Amino acid sequence: MSERGSFYLGNDDPSPVEILHAKAHSEFLLMCEHGGRKVPKCLGDLGVDRSEMDRHIAYDVGAEAVARRVASALCAPLFIQPYSRLVVDCNRPPEAADLIPEVSDGTKIPGNLGLTREEQSLRFEQIHRPFHEAVSAGLDRVTARGQQPVLLTIHSFTPIMRRTGEVREIEFCISCNRDDRLAKAMLFEVRAAYPAVNVGFNDPYPVTDMEDYAIPVHGERRGIPHVLVEVRSDLISDEAGQTKWAHIVSSTIRAAVERVKPRDAMS
Ligand SMILES: [Zn+2]
Repeated sequence: MSERGSFYLGNDDPSPVEILHAKAHSEFLLMCEHGGRKVPKCLGDLGVDRSEMDRHIAYDVGAEAVARRVASALCAPLFIQPYSRLVVDCNRPPEAADLIPEVSDGTKIPGNLGLTREEQSLRFEQIHRPFHEAVSAGLDRVTARGQQPVLLTIHSFTPIMRRTGEVREIEFCISCNRDDRLAKAMLFEVRAAYPAVNVGFNDPYPVTDMEDYAIPVHGERRGIPHVLVEVRSDLISDEAGQTKWAHIVSSTIRAAVERVKPRDAMS
């Protein structure tokens, strides 16, 4: 375990942001904030069992593999967070109570218990902030080329919550908050092209200010088209599922962007 207060990323720890297709000239910018489950060396194993690190509490199972495929299909840059959301949740605002969760879906995280404000802020400054600064710079680059950026963030959700026993029938969730332009258009496209898919709109998770960061900060504040999507993780546990869902996401968002463009006179 670490010495208290000595959180730092070492030379052999990965960078707090991995960018795929960084030089791609696309209007799309993709994010996967819960893609990784790495833990910086200074935190040891957070006191958490290896098997727990394979669960959705540590990362969005399957989401990174889907996001990589969507990024390839759209020829778009993808910003992946390699560190586990148990280290610091990159889709939470700094003031969220579960920015660095002490308990997640019934599992205690010993390495996160009783952190001081300073300890929390070290993790935020070294992982959360540089990740989102990289995303901001990426969006600025799209704007500088004279294009309106389109933000897509890709997540997964667990079919069963262990703590509550809740079972989810929904397969795919499209989420937004204040600006539903792109989300509604994508919902329309999914229903039209994939009528068999059980799709939820802001169900099981709506976008909120306290439980999200990417959409409120990068999407809403900039006033650019944006959407958060989540695939149920048991559907993307193998390559066939990841390929299938990447195709569903990439084809429907492409069509959805075309649908919102003329009405809002984007370009
Ligand atoms: Zn997520």
